[in-house]
Amino acid sequence: MWYSDRAPTIERKYSKSILRYFKVGSHIGMTINPYQGCHHRCGYCYATYKWSPDFYDKIYGKINAPEILESELNRWKDTSMLPVMISSATDAYQFAEAKFGITKRCIQVLQQFQIPFYVFTKSSLIERDLNLFRNYSSNCFIVWSITTTDEKIKRIIEPGTPPTTRVFETIMKFVDSGIKCCVNIDPIIPFITDSEEHIASIVDKCQQVGIRYISGSVLRLRHDIWVRIREILELFGISWTIEEYERIYGFQEPFMHDNNQSANKTYIDKVLDNLKDEVSTRNIVFGFSELIEQLTKVKQEYTISSKQCRISEFV
Ligand code: SF4
Repeated sequence: MWYSDRAPTIERKYSKSILRYFKVGSHIGMTINPYQGCHHRCGYCYATYKWSPDFYDKIYGKINAPEILESELNRWKDTSMLPVMISSATDAYQFAEAKFGITKRCIQVLQQFQIPFYVFTKSSLIERDLNLFRNYSSNCFIVWSITTTDEKIKRIIEPGTPPTTRVFETIMKFVDSGIKCCVNIDPIIPFITDSEEHIASIVDKCQQVGIRYISGSVLRLRHDIWVRIREILELFGISWTIEEYERIYGFQEPFMHDNNQSANKTYIDKVLDNLKDEVSTRNIVFGFSELIEQLTKVKQEYTISSKQCRISEFV
């Protein structure tokens, strides 16, 4: 397996910096990652890489992240800032957050400086901070990463995540509290989660809890991701699909690419057209760029003016 048979260890570490620029396609923004490594142990994870061999087994909480963030914002030279993504390379509401509360304290700092932000998560632990988000609902939104409603599939492909029913209960509380929410069906995995019925079951659940935005994308492959996906195909007893993967991703074993490789256009169009149809027939918006644009407009109306913020208020 791609993770050990023991629970991950959780350790503290001290960081020198926390705010980073990121660029994905045409989208640029700021991001913070309060943790290193991830308890959710998703086999398809893009954030794992050579520099992080213990990604699934050793979780580091950047214990001084809120203080570093405050100090970086106090030194910020511009008068405004792009919306901040929490987080790009781990789940900020994974299990370690229950112990350390680093993400919560970072969010309090961002709010004190009136900086718009959005959170990507698969976790129901975020419910603990519902009031924080409710009181800041015009300047933030949540993106819930949901890949499946099938618990048997979920336990194999992302064994450390909470049950989907539990996550949808949490989503409903956020929607009912007036917090903007998107569900990101990502990645859609060929021969495991890409069928029309599978996609429809996720979109149905989204509709039931009042989600207004849904996005999605097809799995991209990289050498280490392929090693794990192949293991997953074997666990599901569908190793015959390896040849289909070779066709869809245009490779022959061994797969050695160090960069993420997309599936072919025909496959992507087929899967995403189906998702878009499911979404539009339910009057839901595909994608969440509209939410990012709203936040970007909000930030233009703000200046980073409250630089006397005291971190001790939050501890
Ligand atoms: S939750 Fe995200 S960062 Fe964590 S293992 Fe899964 S895909 Fe990777």
